[in-house]
Amino acid sequence: MTSNDENPLKLFNSLTRSLETYTPIHDGEARVYTCGPTVYNYPHIGNMRAYVFADTLGRALSYKGYALKHVINITDVGHLTDDGDEGEDKLEKMASEKSQDIWDIAKHYTHAYWDDIKALNIRQPAKWSIATDYVPAMIEFAKSIADKHCYLCETGLYFDVSTVEDYGRLARAASDNEAEGRIDAVTDKRNAADFAIWRKTPEGEKRQMEWDSPWGKGAPGWHLECSVMSKELLGFPFDIHTGGIDHREIHHANEIAQNQAIEGCGGLSGCAENSGAKIWMHNNFLIDRAGKMSKSSGEFLRVQLLIDKGFHPLAYRMMCLQAHYRSELEFSWDNLVAAFTRLKRLVMMMERMDRSIEAAEPSHQKLTAPMQKFDAAICDDLNTSIALTALDEVVSMKKIDAAQKLGAIKVMDDVLGLNLMALSRTDLRVRPKDAQLSEEEVEAQLSLRKEAKANKDFPTSDAIRDMLNDKGIELMDGDPLGWEWKI
Ligand code: AMP
Ligand code: ZN
Repeated sequence: MTSNDENPLKLFNSLTRSLETYTPIHDGEARVYTCGPTVYNYPHIGNMRAYVFADTLGRALSYKGYALKHVINITDVGHLTDDGDEGEDKLEKMASEKSQDIWDIAKHYTHAYWDDIKALNIRQPAKWSIATDYVPAMIEFAKSIADKHCYLCETGLYFDVSTVEDYGRLARAASDNEAEGRIDAVTDKRNAADFAIWRKTPEGEKRQMEWDSPWGKGAPGWHLECSVMSKELLGFPFDIHTGGIDHREIHHANEIAQNQAIEGCGGLSGCAENSGAKIWMHNNFLIDRAGKMSKSSGEFLRVQLLIDKGFHPLAYRMMCLQAHYRSELEFSWDNLVAAFTRLKRLVMMMERMDRSIEAAEPSHQKLTAPMQKFDAAICDDLNTSIALTALDEVVSMKKIDAAQKLGAIKVMDDVLGLNLMALSRTDLRVRPKDAQLSEEEVEAQLSLRKEAKANKDFPTSDAIRDMLNDKGIELMDGDPLGWEWKI
């Protein structure tokens, strides 16, 4: 595919609230910034939906022929327990609760996040930008906008949102009154929506992470970080900024205000680029019955928990792909089982093919229709659920040149990221943490059972089945997927 493709990529821009044709700012390139995790705790699977989405976007841009430059940040300082200005720094809080060094906390959870990234087959971005590496640049940024756009409060340097045009357009909060929900403890703020870009360490306190600045010892505000890192690494304006839907209301609205300030830009109506990026994209929430998934309520659903229960992590990726990224997605174990079954079916069909042959350009006439369907779906604001049905069609196609069929599957899977060219059925047989028997022990019992059945010794064969059942192994005689057993 090339960037001059007759079917261009259309993406929903949260800022203009419309579907827009993607046209790169820099010829042939796509520069994308994704708001990364705050590394004070493990990410839950809802958080990971945001990165499956950003990855799918990046893969779609590569598929359409653009050279992708993707940056994801790691927030290791500045994110308060409330997205507004209330509360404590999430990392400082966790470090003091655990009596641990804050840098160790950041390192531990950054690596845990990267493990999940790998497990979900999310491609490495060109750059992981770590917020604390950019503090000097943040201070310079703040210095450049301080005179015209900021004022000092008791607690730090604040951004006056009335100094930029169209504040809150992204959040649909047309006036400051609509942002009134965000009242916080800072009483000397000029407008309710004003936010700290530098927070002073309170008199007599010592934070584990603090830096000298013209406004006193302290730490940068969370919103400042993303403005600075995206500007430094991608330059304003860049193509696409992504994040979860909750970022639309505060975090991205504030980033945009800062970006307008540093660039000396006017309003946003008719000129989205003044916001610092051309397109702002947001994934909707993963929810559970209780509502938006969070780290503090109910069972803490981490990727590792899914694995511990015997699910392959790509079953979760499949579950995400089955929904549109702009729709809410409800998590349930049944949904996950269904997604896992779909993945198993694909992998089983792939195993029946010879994946060692060289994939060829899919030019066969029979492949045209599903390839076009796939392309149209991806170009339609990343409609992965339809794209998956096109993949299903190709995978189950018979009497077709194997190399071309494999070529078509490869093209599709490069976008969907299900790792179909490599996954085997054995990979999918994930051993739950509480499994009582090893694979070898199960296999040994199964061959004993086969032998007993061959000898028409049904009592023995039944006894083996019951024994396996007792140990949590369900035998699947006659299973259409050809899986002989599961845990
Ligand atoms: P955080 O580490 O809290 O900054 O969140 C990381 C990313 O996850 C952000 O892009 C959030 O918008 C996103 N996010 C948080 N909760 C959910 C959820 N339940 N479903 C989908 N995305 C979420
Ligand atoms: Zn951000």
